[in-house]
Amino acid sequence: MATVAYKCPNCASPLTYDGVSGKMICAACDSQFDQETIEALNAPEEAGTVDFVAPTEEYTASDADQMQAYHCKSCGAELVTEGTTTATECPYCGSPTILPDRIDGGIRPEMVVPFIITKDQAQQAFEGYFKGKKLLPNIFKKDNQIAEMRKLFVPYWLFDCDAEGDIIYNAEKKHTRREGEWEVTTVEHYIVRRAGSMSFENIPVDGSVKLDDKITESLEPYDFTKAVPFQPTVLSGAMADHADVDADACEKRAVERVESSMINSLRNTVHGYNSVSVRSKNISSSGGKVTPVLLPVWLITTRKDDKVYTFAINGQTGELTCDVPTDKGKAFLWGAGAFAGIFGLAALVLYLLKMLASGTLLIAGIASLFAALVVVFLLIGQLKQAVSKSSAEGYSQEGCQLHVQYDRFLYANTTRRKIETQNKEAAA
Ligand SMILES: [Zn+2]
Ligand SMILES: [Zn+2]
Repeated sequence: MATVAYKCPNCASPLTYDGVSGKMICAACDSQFDQETIEALNAPEEAGTVDFVAPTEEYTASDADQMQAYHCKSCGAELVTEGTTTATECPYCGSPTILPDRIDGGIRPEMVVPFIITKDQAQQAFEGYFKGKKLLPNIFKKDNQIAEMRKLFVPYWLFDCDAEGDIIYNAEKKHTRREGEWEVTTVEHYIVRRAGSMSFENIPVDGSVKLDDKITESLEPYDFTKAVPFQPTVLSGAMADHADVDADACEKRAVERVESSMINSLRNTVHGYNSVSVRSKNISSSGGKVTPVLLPVWLITTRKDDKVYTFAINGQTGELTCDVPTDKGKAFLWGAGAFAGIFGLAALVLYLLKMLASGTLLIAGIASLFAALVVVFLLIGQLKQAVSKSSAEGYSQEGCQLHVQYDRFLYANTTRRKIETQNKEAAA
């Protein structure tokens, strides 16, 4: 058996095992620790791996008979639709140079979430978007006509897995008290361990390189209980993107979201400290499964000053997102205006209360600055810009089930500081 020399967390001297108490003892500073604590302090960090079982079933000969593939000469998009639907333009770039092609392999989607939002509803959502957005660049103020709303099924991979997380934290509690003319600060050091499991179901990752992940992640969530089994006929009247990013490449994105959900969930169970930092973490997953699905999206592109902007609407919920930028000039004017207005009002109130002084004005200035930033932030929120999702908590029904949870005191440091007394009283 290998012997490991453990060091005292307080003074770094070697620890020895005491057979009588069953504890690890430091002869130098008289501390004692139980073995569980010492093992947690020395827990190795292992890179977790997740193996997802990827789907292998391809389109059948009967599917191919009922389907038609297209290839866009302009942007390279590979698309499929149901045999009687004729495509005249590419749903991604609008180019009419879209050539019929043969269905050649490709993973068969298992499920399809049907469209619920009609073309009229999507059109209304798009037109309504331009109303009341204060930071909308002027180029979007007029002529937002759309030539065509494109009804598109976007290929996604849905990831399921059971994740296990074991995270050890260094935590500190700080107390300050006064003893005569001394300020005494005690920092208590703790080791905190949380281990738990989370089951994730249907974390969607889009399998299309043509659509930005930020756009597809902003369209979440979809209700997968409404999904139907794939049949070529469900594609009728719509185009489906042939998945061009394979499941392996999407796995990375799913794993990132699983890991950050695990990290957030475990961290949310650690309370009562002044500071907490991760000392070591082990996250692993098992039972990984990937399901290929098609999800409904209304896609609208508008061209402004030679740039193409994308609007996407979730075909099931009507959620809209886009890549419209914030007008920086307007954001600055709104921020400055809000600051001037709030600061002016605060100064007036201070004046009326006869509290006008450099100190109170400074506080009013800082508060006004925060308020102005909040105003700008809310106005940017109106634009519904696409942002990526960093975690996947919404895809874990039960949340995190903790199976190890302990907080152990390690040692404390005390420091003293002499308090400078401003008014020295004459000794009586
Ligand atoms: Zn020690
Ligand atoms: Zn195209």
